Amino acid sequence: MKLFEEAGRMGHEQVVFFQCETSGLRAIVAIHNTILGPALGGLRMWPYASEDEALRDVLRLSRGMTYKAAVAGLNLGGGKAVIMGNPETDKSEALFRSFGRFIGSLGHRYITAEDVGTTVNDMEYIYQETDRVVGVHPVHGGSDDPSPFTAFGTLCGIRACLNRKYGEATVRNRSFSVQGVGSVGFHLVKLLREEGAKVFVCDINQDRVSRAVDELGAEAVGMDDIYDVEANVFAPCALGGVINENTVPRLKVDIVAGSSNNQLESGEWGTALEERGIVYAPDYAVNAGGLMNVAIELQGYNRKRATQLVSTIYTNIDMIFRIAERDGIPSWRAADRLAEERIAAIGHIKKPFTRRNKDRLSGRSPSAGTASH
Ligand code: NAD
Repeated sequence: MKLFEEAGRMGHEQVVFFQCETSGLRAIVAIHNTILGPALGGLRMWPYASEDEALRDVLRLSRGMTYKAAVAGLNLGGGKAVIMGNPETDKSEALFRSFGRFIGSLGHRYITAEDVGTTVNDMEYIYQETDRVVGVHPVHGGSDDPSPFTAFGTLCGIRACLNRKYGEATVRNRSFSVQGVGSVGFHLVKLLREEGAKVFVCDINQDRVSRAVDELGAEAVGMDDIYDVEANVFAPCALGGVINENTVPRLKVDIVAGSSNNQLESGEWGTALEERGIVYAPDYAVNAGGLMNVAIELQGYNRKRATQLVSTIYTNIDMIFRIAERDGIPSWRAADRLAEERIAAIGHIKKPFTRRNKDRLSGRSPSAGTASH
C-alpha cells in the first residue's frame, strides 16, 4: 500500500508502527482525526494474514471512529489500534505492557479500549503502564460491560424512529423482530418486553433463543424467516451486511434500527430501504451507547451520567432525520454529513489541543461529554 497516498485520501493525521522484540509486539495505531479531542478507539488483536491487511483494517476502523464520536456529540476524535497476533495463543503480560508504554508515548493523542480479540484483563495490563486506556476493571474506575448501554441507546434510537414514522415514540403494543440475542440483543429484548412490546427473535445459538423465550417471553422464529416477519421494527443485533439485495425486498417492517455494525452491505441498500418507505437509523449513530459509556470513564465513571448521555441518542437520530430532510438525502448519508459539519464547525473555532483541566490526575482527557449540537 502507498501509505501516504492512502492515509491522505482517507484523511488520517498520523499512523504509528510499534515493535518490541522482547514481547513480540507488532502494533499499528492510526489516528484519524483529533479536531474534536483525543482519538479514542479500541485495540483489535487479530492474526492478520499480512501487514497490508492489518494496515487497511486500522485505517478503515479509525476513520469510522471519527464519525461515530462526532455524531455521538462526544469531544473525542477517531483512532484505532491493531496488534498482529493470535488472541488465543500470543497474549502475554509483556505484550500488553509494551503496547501500554508505546501508546503512553503518544501523549494525549490516543486512548485505547477493548475490541475484537482483547478483554478487560488486557486493558488492565495496559493500565499498569499508562492511563490512556478505558474499559478497565471497575475497581480502577472502569465502566464494565458496555452492552446494556448499547442496548439502551438502541432503544432510544428506535423511539426516535417510531416518532418519525408514527408521530409518537411509544414502544408499547409495537412489534419487533430482533436478529441475534447475544449481549446487546438480549438486553434490548428485555427493555422492549418491559415496555409491553411483542418481540420475535432468532439466533444461531439455540440456547440463547430459548433464554429469550423462557425468561423474556419473546417468540422464536427461524434464522432465515426473520426477514419475513411482519413487524413495526427490524433490529439487526448480530451481523453486518444484512441489509442487501436479498433482504430489502423481503422486509415487512416500517423501521430498521439495531445495534450491529455495518448493517448496509453498501450505501445503496440504505437508499433502497427509504425508497420502500422504511425508516433507517444509521448503525454507528444508534449503537454509540457503548462508546458513550466508556467516554464517561475519562471524567470519572458515573453510571447515572452515562445513562443520561446515552439517552441523547434519541436527539442524535432525530437530528440525522432533519438533515436528511433538509438536504434531500438518505439518512445514512445524513449521518456522515452531521459528523463532517460538526468537525468542520469546531475545527474553525478550536484552539490547538490544550489541557483544560490541569489538576486532573496525569492528564486524563477532559474532553468526553456532550457537545452543543
Ligand atoms: P454477541 O456476540 O454477544 O451477540 C451476537 C449474537 O448474534 C450471538 O448470540 C450470535 O450467536 C448471534 N448470531 C451470529 N450470527 C447470527 C446469524 N446469522 N443470525 C442470527 N444470530 C446470529 O455480540 P454483541 O456484543 O451483542 O454485539 C452485537 C452487534 O452489535 C455486533 O455487530 C457488534 O459489533 C455490535 N455492537 C456491539 C456493542 C456492544 O456494546 N457490545 C457496541 C456497538 C456495536
